[in-house]
Amino acid sequence: MKTILVCVAGLTPQIITETLYYYLIEKKPPIWIDEINVLTTSEGKDIIVNSLLNKKDGVFYKFLSDYNIGFNKIKFDENSVIQLGGDSCVKDIATDMDSAIIGNEIVNYVKNLAIDNNVRIICSIAGGRKTMSVYLSLGLQLYGREQDILSHTLVSPDFESIKDFFYIPPEEKIITVKDKNGLIIKTLNTKNAKIVSSEIIFVRLRNFLNVKDELFYDDLVGIVQKKVDYCGTKLISIDLKNRALLLGNKKVILKPIEICIYNLFLSLKKKCIQEFCGNCMDCYMSLNEMRSQEAYKSLLEFYNIIYSENSGQYDRLQESFKNDGKGEDFFSQNISKINKTLKQHLNPFEFAFYKISKVGKYNKRYGIYVDKKNILS
Ligand SMILES: [Zn+2]
Repeated sequence: MKTILVCVAGLTPQIITETLYYYLIEKKPPIWIDEINVLTTSEGKDIIVNSLLNKKDGVFYKFLSDYNIGFNKIKFDENSVIQLGGDSCVKDIATDMDSAIIGNEIVNYVKNLAIDNNVRIICSIAGGRKTMSVYLSLGLQLYGREQDILSHTLVSPDFESIKDFFYIPPEEKIITVKDKNGLIIKTLNTKNAKIVSSEIIFVRLRNFLNVKDELFYDDLVGIVQKKVDYCGTKLISIDLKNRALLLGNKKVILKPIEICIYNLFLSLKKKCIQEFCGNCMDCYMSLNEMRSQEAYKSLLEFYNIIYSENSGQYDRLQESFKNDGKGEDFFSQNISKINKTLKQHLNPFEFAFYKISKVGKYNKRYGIYVDKKNILS
């Protein structure tokens, strides 16, 4: 299995070599790193490339030679330093917009790496802006597999943010720390430095998501949240004859035509071929589809359970369907009425699950989010 170390870094490239040092030298037994990828801002990229990857005196090469590691053993070059923000080259994360762009990018980055089962990812959150480390962790939480590691490297306080300290060398070295004016404040011996890393356990939510989906972070969270909530007791059963919907532990009585329309959506959901619907839209209907002969037929079947055939009510409904007398308004108005009644009886969370939702930007489709495994009858 190949191991890729993914670091977020800003203006302190030290964190990259410190983490590398930890996994290769300090950790017992060590974890070999095959490749390093760094996610950073445009400013960060220049600093990282100059200090670590400079062909003449880059610290990364110095580290390799100090520890007798062949220069081609670990893949890490200018192309491994990924500048976030795409074409817009985010210089720093200063606004909500920067955060959203970068967050989304980091999460997607982790997702793409986590597609290959022969790759283990170690996500190191020690560097960069906090926003970056938070999104790196969240990305791993959404897409990480059993083999992946979330890691935080810590350096003993004396050596933390010391410009010239990048790792503990095999032979001790004295580092002089100067102030702004170039005056020596203190000297440090690298033999006193400690680099440790704590591995943070995290919930893996990957099974709730379809890795093929190209979604924004906000949408991913929405999907996972709904699915996690679903593991609860969001059950639903329908008693057509008594026009009753049993939603969790609540009972809601609807008008005859309303309960039939609601049942139309439930039966569509039950027939859906998806194992877990989530954001599936196959079990949603457009207003046009509701006015199909097939839908009319189902509605009449349901209606027949409430009002027997040849009763005035049944005949009138059948007649109006025949002439397609029920326009789109018939459905949209009834859907509004159903939702209004549901809203009166349910708390906002319950309402979100059981209401007839309208989805899609242009071709609006209607359906119920509740999953079919939660439909009891
Ligand atoms: Zn479905």
